[in-house]
Amino acid sequence: MAKHIFVTGGVVSSLGKGLTCASIGLLLERRGLRVRLQKFDPYINVDPGTMSPYQHGEVYVLDDGSETDLDLGHYERFTNAPLSRDCNFTTGKIYLSVIQKERKGDYLGRTVQVIPHVTDEIKGAVRKLVADDVDVVITEVGGTVGDIEGLPFLEAIRQVALDLGKANVLYIHLTLVPFLKAAGEAKTKPTQHSVERLRQIGIQPDILICRTERELAKEDAEKIALFCNVEKRAVIEERDKEVSIYEVPLSLVENKLDDLIVEKLDLKAKPLQIADWRDMLQRIKNPAHEVTVGVVGKYIKHKDAYKSICESLDHAGIALATRVVVRRIEAEEVEREGAERVLSGLDGILVPGGFDYRGSLGKIDAIRYARERKVPFFGICLGLQCAVIEFARNVVGLEDANSTEFDRNCPYPVVCMLDDQYAIVDKGGTMRLGSYPCNLTEGSKAHKAYGSLLVHERHRHRYEFNNQFRQQFAANGLEVTGTSPNGQLVEVVELRDHPWFLAVQCHPEFKSKPTRAHPLFRGFIQASLQRREKKTEAQRARAATPAKVSM
Ligand code: GLN
Repeated sequence: MAKHIFVTGGVVSSLGKGLTCASIGLLLERRGLRVRLQKFDPYINVDPGTMSPYQHGEVYVLDDGSETDLDLGHYERFTNAPLSRDCNFTTGKIYLSVIQKERKGDYLGRTVQVIPHVTDEIKGAVRKLVADDVDVVITEVGGTVGDIEGLPFLEAIRQVALDLGKANVLYIHLTLVPFLKAAGEAKTKPTQHSVERLRQIGIQPDILICRTERELAKEDAEKIALFCNVEKRAVIEERDKEVSIYEVPLSLVENKLDDLIVEKLDLKAKPLQIADWRDMLQRIKNPAHEVTVGVVGKYIKHKDAYKSICESLDHAGIALATRVVVRRIEAEEVEREGAERVLSGLDGILVPGGFDYRGSLGKIDAIRYARERKVPFFGICLGLQCAVIEFARNVVGLEDANSTEFDRNCPYPVVCMLDDQYAIVDKGGTMRLGSYPCNLTEGSKAHKAYGSLLVHERHRHRYEFNNQFRQQFAANGLEVTGTSPNGQLVEVVELRDHPWFLAVQCHPEFKSKPTRAHPLFRGFIQASLQRREKKTEAQRARAATPAKVSM
C-alpha cells in the first residue's frame, strides 16, 4: 500500500515548498523508493494556463499537454516520477468536476456540500496517484496555512489519515524562522502560530522544516518542538542556499530528513545513493569558464517567468563546467535604447516564448543583432516566430512581414494561426499543447546536437511558420531543419552561415535536468563559450602586440 506525505506551508508564501517536495522526492528515490508527486493549488482558475506570467510565473507544460504550476518543473528536474494531469489540481478543477457530476445527477438528489463532496473529490485526486508500483505519494498543498481558500484541501488531507490510518500518513509543515536583526535573534512565534492554525483543523505536523537565514540554534529548535508538539529531532533546519537550489536535498540529508521519513512511515528503503548529485554540485561550485547570455523577453520583472529556461541554461553550464550568467533584458529596452547599447558584450542571445505584440520589435531587433554580428542565438517558440519575421523583413525583403498574432492584416503573414485553431473560442487548454514528434534533417545543427533524427518535445502555441514562404526563406539561407512527421509543421529553423542560429517552435526547456542537460541548450552554451574564448584570445593578442610607432 502506498504511503502518503502531505506538505503544507506556513507564515509566508514563496518558502520553496515545491523545491522541498522535489528534494524529498529525490531523497526517497535515491533510497530505492518509487514516488509520485502532486500539487494542489487553492486558486479558482481551472489551471494556470490562462494566467498572466506576471501573476503566476511560468506555465509548465507536461507531455500530456496539461498546463501546470511551475513547481511541477522542480519535481521533474529532481526526480524520475512520471507526471500527468493528475499531478496538479486547483480549486477550479476540483469544483468543475463536482459541478459536472451534480449536473449529471451523480449525487442522487443529495445537497452537494464542501464536506463531504468537495473533500471527497480532493481525496479522489490524491488516490489517482496510488498504484501498485508506487511506494510514496507526496502531495504539496499550495498557499499558506490560514488562507480561506486552502481550507477544503487541509480538511481533505486531515481525513486521509482517518481513512488510511495515521501510520500511513506523514504531515510535513514548512515554515519560516525569521532572524530579526534589530533584536539580534531568531523568532519562533510565527511558526508557533502557524502550527496552531494547523492543529485547530486537526492536523498535527510530524515534521517541521524551518527555513532560516542563519543556523537554527539548538534552543530555538527545542522551543519550537515544545510549543508545536513535535519531536526535537523532527525540527529540521533548511537554511538559505547561496550557490544553487540543487543544494537543498543535500542539506536535508545532513539534517537526516530521509532517515526520519523512512522511520516514521516504516518504509523499506535502501541506503542513500547520491554521489552523482554531490559531484554535480561540485561542478556548479567550481566552474572552469564563464559566459554571459541575454534572455530578451517581456516578462522580465517576474523572477519566475522564465524559470525553466534559466534552469536549462544552468544545466548546460553544469555539463560544460561553465558558470552561465543570465542577463534578463526587457525587450522594450532594446526598442528604446537600441540593440548595440543593450546587447553588446553578450556571448549569446536567447529569445524565449511569449504572447502579443508588446516587446516584439525589441525581440526582432535583438535577433537581427545576433544574426548580423554572428552572436549565438537560440529562439524558443515566439523566439522562432520573431526570427522568421526578422529574416523576412531584413533578408528576404518582405517589408512589413509579420505574424497574424501581431497584425492580422499584414501583407506577408510569415507566421499565421495553426489551421485547427480558427474555430476555437475558449482560451483554457486549447493551444497546440504537449509532446509531439519532430523529424530532423540529417547533418543539421539540431541533428548533430541531439544525435538523433527523431525527437519529441513539448509545445504550447497557436501560431506557426507559414509554409507558403518556406522556399523563399531557404533560398536566402534560413533552412527548415525540423518538421512534424508529415512535413507540414515547421519545428526547427537554422541559419547556414552562422556559428549558432537555431530556433525551435517547441519548449525544450521543459525536458532539461541538472544531471542531463538538454542538447540544444548545451549546443547554445557551447557556441557562446567558443565566442567568448575567441574574444578573449583576440584581446590577449592585441595586448601582446606592441603598438606601432610611426616615424
Ligand atoms: N504566441 C505564440 C503562439 O501562440 C507563441 C507562444 C509561445 O511562445 N509559447 O504561437
